Amino acid sequence: MLKNNKKTNRPIATLFCSFIGHSYTVTNKITNHINEYKCGNCGKEVCDDTRGYLEELTLKQREVNETLSLFFKKRSKRQITA
Ligand SMILES: [Zn+2]
Repeated sequence: MLKNNKKTNRPIATLFCSFIGHSYTVTNKITNHINEYKCGNCGKEVCDDTRGYLEELTLKQREVNETLSLFFKKRSKRQITA
């Protein structure tokens, strides 16, 4: 995995992914059920939605996840200290 390779939108990789599927790894854990993923081949980013499907990680979705993550962390903290 190349971490410093931000522009990974290579046509061959995209073609490869469309044949065998994306190779996602978790990049950000939002809640127990929602994660953000990135494909190690083409760099496509997706996340779990509330129904358990994968959807494209848009800027708006990223903001939603950030809010969710903060809320989730606050809540788990409260559960621990309660
Ligand atoms: Zn891919």
